[in-house]
Amino acid sequence: MPTTTSAPGPVLTYRCDGCARLISDLAGDLHVAYAEVHAHRHGSRSEPARWAAHHRRCNPLPKAAGYRFPIEAARTSTALLVWTLVLSERDWYRHTDWPAFVRRVLEATHLLRTAATDLATLERRPRRARAEASA
Ligand SMILES: [Zn+2]
Repeated sequence: MPTTTSAPGPVLTYRCDGCARLISDLAGDLHVAYAEVHAHRHGSRSEPARWAAHHRRCNPLPKAAGYRFPIEAARTSTALLVWTLVLSERDWYRHTDWPAFVRRVLEATHLLRTAATDLATLERRPRRARAEASA
């Protein structure tokens, strides 16, 4: 079984989609609007529902109008991985842009230089390893 070390990794930061300032712990949420999910599911919206980060005071969406969780629960890449598992079990997951949101977060934190170049590099490694193994 895989094991872990206690290394926490970089702390992820989020800028408010309202005021563009950094959001500190206990002051904001990541959220997606149910109306956008519904519109994408039923074809009246071509883009998947967009995940956003807001200070609670800047959030234009009423609490009941979307799915949300606190910013302090998404401070590490491990936390984002766990949220990906949790969210992917929701029947509305594929109607949201969560994978693109995660890419934006990782790029903003410089964990990915750009999603396109880094992911291409990651995808090349296993093929090269396979080629070397069969040589
Ligand atoms: Zn704000």
